[in-house]
Amino acid sequence: MKIIDGAKIAQALQEEIAAEVGDFLSDTGVVPCLAVLLAGNDPASAVYVQRKRDACARVGIRSELYHPYLGVVDGQKTLEGILSYLNGESWCHGILVQLPLPSPLSQYRIFDLIHPDKDVDVFNPVNVGLLVQGRPRLKPCTPHGIQEMLRRSGIGIAGKKVAVINRSDVVGKPLSSMLIQDNDDYANATVTVCHNRTPPGLLKEITRAADIVVVAVGIPGFLTADMVRAGQVVVDVGVNRLGGKKLVGDVDFPAVSKIVEAISPVPGGVGPMTVTMLLRNTLEAAKEQVQR
Ligand code: NAP
Repeated sequence: MKIIDGAKIAQALQEEIAAEVGDFLSDTGVVPCLAVLLAGNDPASAVYVQRKRDACARVGIRSELYHPYLGVVDGQKTLEGILSYLNGESWCHGILVQLPLPSPLSQYRIFDLIHPDKDVDVFNPVNVGLLVQGRPRLKPCTPHGIQEMLRRSGIGIAGKKVAVINRSDVVGKPLSSMLIQDNDDYANATVTVCHNRTPPGLLKEITRAADIVVVAVGIPGFLTADMVRAGQVVVDVGVNRLGGKKLVGDVDFPAVSKIVEAISPVPGGVGPMTVTMLLRNTLEAAKEQVQR
């Protein structure tokens, strides 16, 4: 069984991005900049934001944090005001709104307002539409991270059967959309998307029939040994904290890893790839905006 080392691939990619950021700075005098909007006080979100900012610093991308106080004011209006400001600032090339937003803020209203050129998470409906039509400006970070992790591990996708257990806007919808494209040299898969309403028996049939299984449900140990077979590749996207401490994915790793051909671990799999693709998108957005 092969471990798909997302952390190592991410490190190599970050070195490439750092070199490109250096070249871009020498050519244009511009430092790529990501604005990070953190709403509310969710401790996990604060940790994710800090990780993303640390990664920016490692490759020479500037990051600016906006963490507004939303206690007594109209939070939605505050966030919308910050976005409108950032959309108009030429030093800001990418905008990241950390999810989930605290209730009752509407993430879709926020997605609508991020300028498509600065939409490094690919949530604005214009960019989502372009992605579905197979002509993305930028690719969304987690699906792109999965695609790149498999590509750099020598695992083919074209012609393969892929089962995706997730239909969210962050993982399942964009990933399935990307993997079925006919104009991407790393796509042309046959994809089945599963979710909560997929009956468990059917889910097991679909995962066992697939060549590649991507699981992102947020339940530790969800993908069990009876749902896989020899020869498969498993990508574990889940992030769960056992007892608030140990980080695990969605796969029953000890049992499943004895059966399948290759598996991405948690930690050290999709997580570092997602952060790396955010860096890539910020650099690409800066290039696009500065060279226009
Ligand atoms: P989400 O919106 O809650 O999506 C979870 C998905 O799992 C939904 O589509 C849900 O189906 C499906 N699901 C839940 N229980 C199921 C079951 N019993 N059978 C079949 N499908 C089931 O969460 P998300 O934002 O997509 O994230 C999912 C997981 O991935 C989380 O652990 C998150 O932390 C992790 N994640 C990791 C990264 C990374 O970079 N490593 C990035 C993004 C997300 P319904 O739609 O029917 O509810």
